[in-house]
Amino acid sequence: MGVVLKDRETSRRPDTVAPGRVKEVTSVSNPIVKDIRNLALKKHREETGQFLAEGLKLVIDALDAGWTLDTLIVAKSQLHSELLAKTAARTVAAGADVLEASDKVLTAISRRDNPQSAIGVFRQKVSRLERIDLGRDGLLVVLDRVRDPGNLGTILRTADAAGAKGVVLVGESVDPFSLEAVRATMGSIFAVPLARVDEAGFLAFRKSFKGLVVGTHMRGETDFRAPAYGARPTLLLMGNEQAGLTEALAGACEALVRIPQVGRADSLNLAVATGLMIFEARRGSLKL
Ligand code: SAM
Repeated sequence: MGVVLKDRETSRRPDTVAPGRVKEVTSVSNPIVKDIRNLALKKHREETGQFLAEGLKLVIDALDAGWTLDTLIVAKSQLHSELLAKTAARTVAAGADVLEASDKVLTAISRRDNPQSAIGVFRQKVSRLERIDLGRDGLLVVLDRVRDPGNLGTILRTADAAGAKGVVLVGESVDPFSLEAVRATMGSIFAVPLARVDEAGFLAFRKSFKGLVVGTHMRGETDFRAPAYGARPTLLLMGNEQAGLTEALAGACEALVRIPQVGRADSLNLAVATGLMIFEARRGSLKL
């Protein structure tokens, strides 16, 4: 069962909504708290379509960006904070529920000793690949079977910071809505369009794509600074942490580039390599 205190049929709320409910929770064995804690499990996130995001600023940013909040858990002990109390009131007015939780409950939900004063239960949102607008020169970061939630979160944060238009997960990837991945995005999960496709779906999209398609590869023969980024919309393909890009994805690239390395390391960490690539590809558009 999803974390809602009352029935809702759709993810869109009508223009006029009934206010949400406010409930105090002090026990970690409360069934609502148990449901929320279960969102740590991928299976439960998939069944409910929900996920957790922690932090008051992040919750406010998400609300401002139009994400749907089902339940806001706030620290009862912190409700003297004007911003927290205001956000709780805003949540209720928007039709979502507020749980005023004891510190013990917040610690149990966040699985951290120093939990944030606000934790949101949000509805997951993914974009359709074809709907991501790259404009004349936008950058789309394409990740092949990314496995590590910290890498994925860091890449979403970097894509946001550099003004990439979106991130695409190709094939069996880590869940972008896991607590660890969301934490690593530092809020960028709410800012960067995210699409998911299987490899065949991506290759079909690539066939009709008219822009530049650059892949990164440990055997790439082109320096990563060489392609004419920014002249056309660009797809940037990054490989899996262990195996790199599949043959099919590497074969779909116009150029395979490599970041030169010295020293003993076989390769760079995926998130670091993606960061270098994103900033290089966006160099012409980023000015201080
Ligand atoms: N053993 C894997 C291989 O041979 O492809 C290493 C994968 S590496 C940890 C993960 C991904 O990061 C690569 O597929 C590539 O996309 C990117 N990467 C890491 N170091 C790179 C480099 N020096 N040049 C280009 N891409 C790199």
